[in-house]
Amino acid sequence: MDSDQSIFERIMTGEIPSELLYEDDQAIVIKDINPQAPIHILLIPRVKIPRLVDADESHQALLGHLLLLAGKMAKQLGCEEAFRLIINNGADAGQTVFHLHLHILANKAFEEGQLAAAFN
Ligand code: AMP
Repeated sequence: MDSDQSIFERIMTGEIPSELLYEDDQAIVIKDINPQAPIHILLIPRVKIPRLVDADESHQALLGHLLLLAGKMAKQLGCEEAFRLIINNGADAGQTVFHLHLHILANKAFEEGQLAAAFN
């Protein structure tokens, strides 16, 4: 095992099981193992970019792809009218897996002004 591999890379190779909802040549979408809302999924690029701030111009199309995919997944899951899209950047922001990923959270009442509580 390559110890530098992120948990998400190990999911992509099949070493660690996951509930796969979607995959293409650029990204996978899985259910979060510890859901913070009735719908809680992760959109994960195949390329390992540790944090959003580590992305550069070469990742522009990929980042666009992930945003469009977020909308498509929300529609597929029937939560397109209300969902939160979250990227944690850095340990102090709550990032625990250093392989860029987008969280979609939905089917939970989110109140304006309580963004910081989204993960409590
Ligand atoms: P973050 O805290 O933004 O880095 O998010 C990492 C997310 O990955 C957390 O919500 C975890 O619950 C989730 N996670 C960790 N390991 C797994 C796994 N094996 N399968 C699915 N989700 C995972």
